[in-house]
Amino acid sequence: MTMQLNSAPLLDFIVGKINVGVFVINRDMDIVLWNHFMETYSGLKADDAVGTNVFDQFPELPRRWLERKINSVFVLKNFAFTSWEQRPYLFKFPHNRPVTGGVDCMRQNCTFLPVRNEAGDVEHVCVTLLDVTDTSIYQSMMKDALRRLADASNRDGLTGIYNRRFLETSLDKEFSRVRRYGGTLSFILLDIDFFKKVNDNLGHLAGDEVLRRAAEIFSHTIRDSDTLGRYGGEEFAVILPQTELDGAVILAERLRQNIEEAEILYDKNPIPVTISLGVTQLSDDVAAYEQLINDADIALYQSKENGRNKVTAFKPSV
Ligand code: GH3
Ligand code: MG
Ligand code: MG
Repeated sequence: MTMQLNSAPLLDFIVGKINVGVFVINRDMDIVLWNHFMETYSGLKADDAVGTNVFDQFPELPRRWLERKINSVFVLKNFAFTSWEQRPYLFKFPHNRPVTGGVDCMRQNCTFLPVRNEAGDVEHVCVTLLDVTDTSIYQSMMKDALRRLADASNRDGLTGIYNRRFLETSLDKEFSRVRRYGGTLSFILLDIDFFKKVNDNLGHLAGDEVLRRAAEIFSHTIRDSDTLGRYGGEEFAVILPQTELDGAVILAERLRQNIEEAEILYDKNPIPVTISLGVTQLSDDVAAYEQLINDADIALYQSKENGRNKVTAFKPSV
């Protein structure tokens, strides 16, 4: 069953009530129609808007851009669209979402529709504004979550510093960069001395606390350009871009001293901790980044052999 409806008043009713901004302008940019949504958010009543120039009413509008957009509709007689991702909004309208969304004003998708007269000529352009603030909030929340997820996948759960996977990827990149563009790079591998005793004598939780505190001390000791990570159980590594061996040894020595002098407490009792370190610099005969790790490991082993709590620089055997 169909009902006979007078379509003009019905359309007026819909355009008036719809929760979408609708306004119509002529070639002179004078407002011809201004719906309730536009009234509500702009504070300008339709009676005061109709017959006035849109740029006189809203001097903050992006005039050049909007004129070009609307002229293109008159010329091409085709509709145009702009998404909030290209231009966040046309009119700076408030929105009623919590400020925690991080969006300062209403995000809008706009369409520009040619309105033809009976002869088929375009005399007016109808602009619609769709409030897409929620979409933009959800998208920024999703991007933020993905960023945090990506970061978490690069980090060690216990200490919060980078994990082995990230360390190796970074070392590989740094290695390739030096090979392509020149410069240098050093690498430090370090291991906590007699760590097993901490676990055996004080328990695994004490061991965990030592790892966390050690990571904190290491990260306060290095420079921003260095990359610190947990390489394995109680082994840590530092990548030092653009650093010669001498400089790397100085940093290694500082790491050793800072740990030795730090007061690491567990249950209010101090736990003495020392570390052994191996340091190496990238030389011409290093074929792959893995070899740097290997070389640093050999030097680290020598530090252990020589009594622990020591720094050893790797020397290639000739
Ligand atoms: P060395 O001076 O020769 O390095 O002696 P060490 O006792 O430090 O070396 P070893 O490799 O024998 O012991 C390392 C210990 O680290 C054994 C392992 O149970 C412990 N460990 C590895 N990962 C963790 C961890 O996440 N938490 C705790 N508490 N202990 C860990
Ligand atoms: Mg150890
Ligand atoms: Mg070890």
